Amino acid sequence: MIRFSVLASSSRGNATVISGGGTHVLVDTGISAQRIRKGLAECDLSVASLSGIFFTHEHQDHICGLGVLSKKDTLKLYCSRYLSQDLKGMAPSAVFTYLEPGQEVQVGELKVTPFCVSHDALDPLGYVFECDGVRLGYVTDTGIIQKNMPDMLAGVQGLYLESNYDPDMLQNSGRPYELINRISGRWGHLSNQQACDFIRQIAHPGLQHLVLAHISPECNTPAKAAAAMRSTLDELQLPTQLHCAAMANRLPWIEVSGT
Ligand SMILES: [Zn+2]
Ligand SMILES: [Zn+2]
Repeated sequence: MIRFSVLASSSRGNATVISGGGTHVLVDTGISAQRIRKGLAECDLSVASLSGIFFTHEHQDHICGLGVLSKKDTLKLYCSRYLSQDLKGMAPSAVFTYLEPGQEVQVGELKVTPFCVSHDALDPLGYVFECDGVRLGYVTDTGIIQKNMPDMLAGVQGLYLESNYDPDMLQNSGRPYELINRISGRWGHLSNQQACDFIRQIAHPGLQHLVLAHISPECNTPAKAAAAMRSTLDELQLPTQLHCAAMANRLPWIEVSGT
């Protein structure tokens, strides 16, 4: 079994704890260290109990808590070699393991496979976490569904998936043209519709849990993201449980099993 709890997720900050076989890891530290510690405590965990922290990329909403977090504990950080150059300045005492897309690493009982995503960052990564045959996909901050993704994520029983913006809300947001183009472009973020299209590509009845994540507070609402995905899941007749991650509240543990 793998279980995971989203401590926070939106365009303003992201962190998720994932556990399998007694091994606990964090993905991203994009909220304050205080909130990370509080969220871990609510999960009966601590920073010291983490076997590693995996990073998707260097944008502030994914790393900003790292500096303070690293002051009390010696952290084991997993990221691309390029990203480590940024993170070493924030966490000089941390121990780094460099990741290459497609090359799995074993961390305790969790097997972790990073893969490329399409985002305006240095070597941005998505992940598949696996324990005892149960697989959880982690896809955020990608402007498109790349050709590698359906293969990487085929058969996952759990999926954390960005559903960042509603296209109409983005176009009518009053934001600068360049920013709208960046968000909706190849190196930006997934819209609700792109997230739905991806689920159509990898749909299978064993997909137990789907978390919609990185929902923009300005250009989307959890209700819009959930409604679009709900109709897609219904159309596909999938029994998948749908969840929306939030910035303000931790999502309680979600358990993904092998059956
Ligand atoms: Zn982000
Ligand atoms: Zn980003």
